[in-house]
Amino acid sequence: MTQRVAVVTGASAGIGAATARRLAADGFSVVLGARRIDRLETIAAEIHGQALALDVTDIGSVERFATAIERVDVLVNNAGGALGTDSIREARDDRWEWMFQANVLGVVRVTRALLPKLEAGGDGLIVNVGSIAGFETYPGGGGYTAAKHGLRALTRTLRQELLGSPIRVSELCPGLAETEFSLVRFAGDEARARAVYRGMQPLSAEDLAEAIGWIASLPPHVNIDEMVVRPRDQATALQVHRRPEGTVD
Ligand code: NAP
Repeated sequence: MTQRVAVVTGASAGIGAATARRLAADGFSVVLGARRIDRLETIAAEIHGQALALDVTDIGSVERFATAIERVDVLVNNAGGALGTDSIREARDDRWEWMFQANVLGVVRVTRALLPKLEAGGDGLIVNVGSIAGFETYPGGGGYTAAKHGLRALTRTLRQELLGSPIRVSELCPGLAETEFSLVRFAGDEARARAVYRGMQPLSAEDLAEAIGWIASLPPHVNIDEMVVRPRDQATALQVHRRPEGTVD
């Protein structure tokens, strides 16, 4: 039997790297895409996958990436993130533009480029990594929540447009997960990034990879339209249960 191929964008860190490892363990041949090729190559070597440079904000890069891929059965659109916590009054265009490029347009470009190959395999699956920011808002989160709301709208539109084709479309919406996400959001400020998870137990990248692995393990007639996964310690984006330092409950 031909080995099924999974393509994971943003596979150099966090949820994408864990998903690449998980899908490889489940028997997929994995293609890993991201900008930091050295990191990708290390992970690819470990899981006998293929590392390909990819910048989802650059159409030329996406086209080269898609051309290098022969077959795709599962596409995990995971590359993305947040920059800053600007209020709308003080919104910086460059940050907002990056968030829309990475989280929305990047997904459009990669999906559009790989759709013919997903269809040709006869049983394709697209998993878009959204966020609870796709249906919640919070002060200072405007750029990221608007982008993830946009991703949610495009995921639902795609699901409607692909009805009748052999492609499933899922959205995974995580809550707080400890990855490089906050480090990127706060431009490398480690203390600020650590404070996001202070006194609470966040999800791990592996928890979310487990969810994606499960979605990809289901038979072709079962489509997990959307899945929301939060830590027990989180009820909404800003309602987080935190314990005093050094205590447990
Ligand atoms: P992360 O550790 O910062 O990983 C982000 C990944 O995206 C990296 O591999 C990065 O690789 C890649 N990436 C960023 N810009 C890219 C670009 N232009 N082209 C290609 N790859 C790019 O963060 P994460 O938490 O795993 O985030 C993964 C996804 O989960 C994101 O879509 C994020 O919005 C979503 N999410 C995260 C959380 C959370 O709390 N962590 C919650 C909800 C949703 P390079 O830098 O090497 O390109």
